[in-house]
Amino acid sequence: MPKKHGAKATSAAAIGNAVRVKPGFVLSDVDPRSTPGYAGSKKDSVGAMDASRAEIDDLQERLYAGGRDGDGPSVLLVLQGMDTAGKGGILRHVVGAVDPQGVSIHAFKVPTKEEREHPFLWRIRKQLPPPGNIGVFDRSHYEDVLVVRVHDLVPPKVWRRRYAEINSFEESCNDKGIHLVKVMLHISPQEQRARLAERLDRPDKYWKFNPGDIDEREHWGDYQEAYQAVLDKTSTDENPWHVVPADHKWYARLAVHQLLLDKLRELHAPWPPADFDVAEQQERLAAT
Ligand code: AMP
Ligand code: MG
Repeated sequence: MPKKHGAKATSAAAIGNAVRVKPGFVLSDVDPRSTPGYAGSKKDSVGAMDASRAEIDDLQERLYAGGRDGDGPSVLLVLQGMDTAGKGGILRHVVGAVDPQGVSIHAFKVPTKEEREHPFLWRIRKQLPPPGNIGVFDRSHYEDVLVVRVHDLVPPKVWRRRYAEINSFEESCNDKGIHLVKVMLHISPQEQRARLAERLDRPDKYWKFNPGDIDEREHWGDYQEAYQAVLDKTSTDENPWHVVPADHKWYARLAVHQLLLDKLRELHAPWPPADFDVAEQQERLAAT
């Protein structure tokens, strides 16, 4: 393989398997500063992403072309993580690098009054990516077993049955050709403190600061427990979770880039065949 930008030929190919949640997975055993499946440096990671950009473009265009007739697969990237885990950076640096045509991003906030009057998956279903698209959920249906569980927003017997509801919902997504890539960005409380401090230090970051984030820090342990339950109950063979250590932003970006690339490679959509007679059209064109 030719070397690019002087970067070592450091492969990111092993990341997907290294971050995939397997039976017996223990969240607290994952060091948020680690870089599983990757031996390169921050500088190498930039080279690695540059090196596969053309391939991602090609694969995304194939996906998009395949969806033009109203069926064909789509991809749904589900991003979860504590406040400041870096979801915004993933949107800008990873998702932002692919052709915006064919990408739809939706951020799920505190449910509106109307949304609360419906089952929790109602607002989620409305945002599923159409064929050929890459959808991104910045938070998701998982909030309904995370923040909701931590803050007792519904009775335990309600949130307890949601894990099974989520699994069957995701299977029904698969049946419609929607391929999920589920990612938890895993940061340490120390790193979160540093990121919040930065938001308070810099006027250009005030807009990102939410005093409520400090209240949520008080519940760190409860959130980790709620995440562990999510990983135990909703990481399936078809729709596995990936826990991406995120104290190093560069690693988290490389890992999500790689997970997206792996999924697009797996789908490797063929170019749709012409629905016209090519030779005939060439002749017509030549005659003009
Ligand atoms: P942010 O992503 O920082 O803009 O914040 C969005 C907020 O909406 C977070 O505090 C989430 O916990 C909250 N949120 C998202 N979904 C739900 C939900 N289903 N129930 C309650 N709060 C939610
Ligand atoms: Mg926030």
